[in-house]
Amino acid sequence: NFISAVVPPGEIGIKFDDIGALDDVKTTLHELAILPMKRPELFSHGNLLRPCKGILLFGPPGTGKTLLAKALATEAGANFISITGSTLTSKWFGDAEKLTKALFSFASKLAPVIVFVDEVDSLLGARGGGFEHEATRRMRNEFMAAWDGLRSKDSQRILILGATNRPFDLDDAVIRRLPRRIYVDLPDADNRLKILKIFLAKENIEPDFDIRSLANATEGYSGSDLKNICIAAAYRPVQELLDEEKKGKKYDTTPALRPLNLDDFIQSK
Ligand code: ATP
Repeated sequence: NFISAVVPPGEIGIKFDDIGALDDVKTTLHELAILPMKRPELFSHGNLLRPCKGILLFGPPGTGKTLLAKALATEAGANFISITGSTLTSKWFGDAEKLTKALFSFASKLAPVIVFVDEVDSLLGARGGGFEHEATRRMRNEFMAAWDGLRSKDSQRILILGATNRPFDLDDAVIRRLPRRIYVDLPDADNRLKILKIFLAKENIEPDFDIRSLANATEGYSGSDLKNICIAAAYRPVQELLDEEKKGKKYDTTPALRPLNLDDFIQSK
């Protein structure tokens, strides 16, 4: 199967509130995608307010693009289909036409639906020179034709949401079909604090640990990097316990009861 996931809205388990920071991005997605899906009647008059068929999320790796796509489906009450550009072109390039038709007809049956295309640059990247695989070119053309073919009634309820770390690799024809482009940036210190608070909300941390210092010391870290720091800190009590066990010591608290200490993540910077 070339689709990596199909999830009904109630089962995604991620909401906008689970995403730290990115407030402007959430507001834009609300206007562009959630409102037209939930309140189509507001967009059905005149010519100016046409629901957009495609949105591009771009920005550095690990900044929450996939997370936003999933939360968007929850918030819009839409099904979520996820495909990965590179899988489609590497594994399935023989059947471009059949696959694209299947994907779009599946999507219209599941509408309202968000079709999330991760690594959209590998599926719909710039038309390569002589080196491009003929099958990749066919796949891209089929995909764009099917996308254009969405009837306007469907386009209100089927949104193609592309994500990429390499927006400059996208070809003009694709850029035109993704008229709304949203930059998902690395978090600044205030936003890193918000993200860290989400990860640490249910953890037992050293009482005098100052999360703000960690946020200040992690310039350039993505949400994903911050999560990795927290996971490493949470693992340490487990490791200590295993070490103690090896030495034949009896431990008196379970790892979960030992407070997390994140101090040296600040000092290591
Ligand atoms: P890539 O471009 O590498 O695919 P991405 O931008 O799609 O990355 P995600 O996969 O959404 O990034 O994020 C990776 C993980 O980092 C998420 O599962 C989540 O746990 C965490 N994360 C990233 N940003 C945030 C955030 N703003 N709030 C909460 N968690 C975040």
